[in-house]
Amino acid sequence: MLSKLKILLILVALSVGWPQIILRFESLITPELQLFGLAAYAALLGICLVGIFSAAFIPVAPVRWGFALFISLSGIMVETYQSSVEDHMPYDAFISMIDASGSLHEAWGQYASAMMIGGVQAVLLFLGIGLSIHHVTKKHSKKLIAAPLLILFALAGILFIRGGDGARGLPTAYTGAAYAMLYGYERSTEVIAPREPVKLPVVRPLNGDGDIVMLVDESISGQYLDINSSRGVYSGLMAPKSGVTPHNFGLAVSIAHCSAAVNMTLRHGGTRDDYVRINGSMPSIWAYAQKAGFETIYIDVPRTKRIFNNMMDDSELKNIDQWIEFDDVPIQRRDHAAADALAGFLNDGKRQFIYLQKIGAHFPIHDKYPDEYMRFKPALPRGQFLNISDTGDRTGFSGSRESWITYRNSYRNTLIWNVGAFFDRLLGQADLAGSTIIYTSDHGQNLHERGGTGVVTHCSPDPKPEEGLVPLVVLDTPQTAGQPGAIDWDAAIAKGRNRSSHFQIFPTVLEMMGYDAKAVQAIYGSDLLTANTAPFAFNYQFNARLGRAPSWKAIKLDEIAYPPDSDFRPVPVGQRGQAIAARPASPAVPATGTK
Ligand SMILES: [Zn+2]
Repeated sequence: MLSKLKILLILVALSVGWPQIILRFESLITPELQLFGLAAYAALLGICLVGIFSAAFIPVAPVRWGFALFISLSGIMVETYQSSVEDHMPYDAFISMIDASGSLHEAWGQYASAMMIGGVQAVLLFLGIGLSIHHVTKKHSKKLIAAPLLILFALAGILFIRGGDGARGLPTAYTGAAYAMLYGYERSTEVIAPREPVKLPVVRPLNGDGDIVMLVDESISGQYLDINSSRGVYSGLMAPKSGVTPHNFGLAVSIAHCSAAVNMTLRHGGTRDDYVRINGSMPSIWAYAQKAGFETIYIDVPRTKRIFNNMMDDSELKNIDQWIEFDDVPIQRRDHAAADALAGFLNDGKRQFIYLQKIGAHFPIHDKYPDEYMRFKPALPRGQFLNISDTGDRTGFSGSRESWITYRNSYRNTLIWNVGAFFDRLLGQADLAGSTIIYTSDHGQNLHERGGTGVVTHCSPDPKPEEGLVPLVVLDTPQTAGQPGAIDWDAAIAKGRNRSSHFQIFPTVLEMMGYDAKAVQAIYGSDLLTANTAPFAFNYQFNARLGRAPSWKAIKLDEIAYPPDSDFRPVPVGQRGQAIAARPASPAVPATGTK
């Protein structure tokens, strides 16, 4: 009777997590059947169940209760997370949640119901495993003790080899226990440490009111812009009218080829060999900016309603003075609203560090530009994606050879609007005197210029070199250049054109804030003034921790696929409407929809 009660309690506890099991099975069956993956997952799930039920029949009471306590407590966090976000909890999220455990009372206010689910599951599992057994026989004692522990070590081993990946759809108790073991290992080897405060001294405090802007675009391939190719589209950066000097680093290489990885590292710094530790343990760019006396402004264009973007979390937010979003601005106009907001900050006479995450040209791009910017045809069909800023879903795009031609034309039109007209609008109203803007994109795009079918543009497991090819331009005025400690960008370009890397931006910004160059570079590697001697390559295995190493994709510039001219019909000059001309700039006012 008691055995049946125990089994029932365990089954009820496990059934709490059934949605993730269903999702995992579904993902292995559709859109295509993955037989190997399906077999591996079924085996792993079965083994975890064997482990839990073996533990429930361990005859030695203290061992049984001890295991029950460990595994049920470990599961609370995973179940709470998965119930609240309705998705699998990756290992990274587990670490973030431990880091945020100091603000448990705030989390309770927000996620009380999910935490209750996790708690109830833990109690059921604790009792199900722990309660005494009717017939105590020592016959299989050793096996019953060994099985759950060996299975736990085996699971932790699998996750270790896979860099923390692979627990999707497994019982949360086992996932949590394995994550806890990996976390313990990383803490003991100091890969993860509590985030440090800023320790570097500000050696060169600047008294001017110049702002520093990191302007990070989304999915902009460097070779599509006129600054880098005679066939490129209008970028607004060739010769701005406003007296701003663009310093063009040419084609640069990104940190990685996925948005979150790149933005996380642009905000926290990192070197090729040491980015996991630096990303997770060193101060953010905001903390450095605040210590150097800047007000910190984060403008996030793609997201609305206070949803975090690109691995930002509550603890990072503590060093951000203003978080700007555009809830009420249509997606097509949001980059332009951000241009207005940025111009407002540049013109307000306060010394600010601004990180602007643009919406750029992420899929879907069918409707990212207004009708009058339909400069290149044939383009993707219009009207279905007006309200989607970015998605991994490729519904509405077949990936055929023909559809890539229309994609590239829509992409060109989007660039003219969200890069060219964006800069016209920004530089038409912003007074840059004393301020510096560093412009780049998170990653490039594979728009199938080489032919072939498929729907993925970036973040692919076997990337094309163009996925890491980004623009890199610094904008300032001669006035800025004249300030003490100002950077000689022309000298920097002479060394760094067509060979610089995203990794060099963070140390450069710290030096601009007034931190000592030598001390900065000892931690964060070389700046943009130093010729990049590292390979011209981006990391396509960014989640490289535990037993997984980064994988670098080298870019050879003479093998880059430039966009083919055969994509489009020339549109006669008289029929372009107001294609290239920017709208007249309105005076800088705080953007509507700003919170
Ligand atoms: Zn991106």
